[in-house]
Amino acid sequence: MIEKRDVQAIYNLPTKVRFCKKCTISNQRPRISFDENGVCSACNFAEHKIKINWKSREKELHELCDKHRKNDGSYDVVVPCSGGKDGSFVAHMLKYKYNMNPLTVTWAPHIYTDIGRKNLDDFINIGGFDNILGSANGSVHRKISRLAFLHMGDNFQSFIYGQANFPLRMAVQHNISLIMYGENGEVEYGGDMKNAYKPTRDIKDHDGHYFSGKPPEFWEDHGVSKSDLYPYMPPPYEKIVENKTEIHFMSYYHFWDPQENYYYSVENTGFEANPHRTEGTYSKYASLDDKTDGLHYYLSYIKFGIGRATSDSAHEIRDDKISRDEGVLLVKKYDGELPERYFKETLKYLNITDKEYWGVIDSWRSPHLWEKIDGVWKLKYPIWENKEIKEL
Ligand SMILES: [Zn+2]
Repeated sequence: MIEKRDVQAIYNLPTKVRFCKKCTISNQRPRISFDENGVCSACNFAEHKIKINWKSREKELHELCDKHRKNDGSYDVVVPCSGGKDGSFVAHMLKYKYNMNPLTVTWAPHIYTDIGRKNLDDFINIGGFDNILGSANGSVHRKISRLAFLHMGDNFQSFIYGQANFPLRMAVQHNISLIMYGENGEVEYGGDMKNAYKPTRDIKDHDGHYFSGKPPEFWEDHGVSKSDLYPYMPPPYEKIVENKTEIHFMSYYHFWDPQENYYYSVENTGFEANPHRTEGTYSKYASLDDKTDGLHYYLSYIKFGIGRATSDSAHEIRDDKISRDEGVLLVKKYDGELPERYFKETLKYLNITDKEYWGVIDSWRSPHLWEKIDGVWKLKYPIWENKEIKEL
């Protein structure tokens, strides 16, 4: 029997579930805030985005590039990119519109999907980019993924370390002072708004925002050696400072619209959407390179009641692609769909049984979100029932 987790305390979640009046996100998303009108910080930011003078932001980007651009032929910007639509868009814009010489860096997924690998190859070959693929020792990667699933309820932590720290390491190694990410997820999708009005990210936020307070060295206590953890670690802080490393977000400089990035990358870097719908949502073009990411998103549904269809629809409502009513229907139809396509492979990868899998999953169901009715787990406050309004 796996001990029950106090999800509310771990993630500091409000007891009463409320949904944003404009989109489909709830107040259970960690670090999100709601205003006095019941509107979430991401929706308010989307309103603000429309009023931003994007011409002057473009000028700021030109200035930033001029500051970092090199004239000796060496790389002048690191672009973290999986070959997906967003990183491909950023890299392509910087190279062809802003005349930069990007080194694109990829932190390998746990288990590549065929389409994910194909998209990376096409990005390199058709898009025309130099790329460094960082692959950690596969057995260590598996071990950390397993441990993170068992201890944190997130099999993706091993990937998240590399995603944040590998580009930093490459920047320092190649004397590149600029790192350009795509969007600031905290701001665009709801979270900590302290960086909403600036283009950069603090390295000090990594532990809190991305690592849930558990940096790579945490796993030393669980039998992972220092040398095995090395590829997951950031370079020494003094080296980051010495290199004058700056981490920026493209979403500060250019109106961020995932659907537009999709069209752009199809056109320019050979990107292809999934031939089938992504489980747990209605879309086909986001986050499709790792066979084990279905579990990662499913765990978010269990912990917060927020699955992929909620996240996708919330963003598309803000981007004016769909209405809130359509969003609610999509959530009802797809959110929390069990990731079955790679289920067996995921169990094998994590070296767990079916029973252990469900034991861990159920240990993360908080009583303030879930109830068991006739032996079946149900969300207490699904968005389509709008119960929260009546009970408040
Ligand atoms: Zn909202």
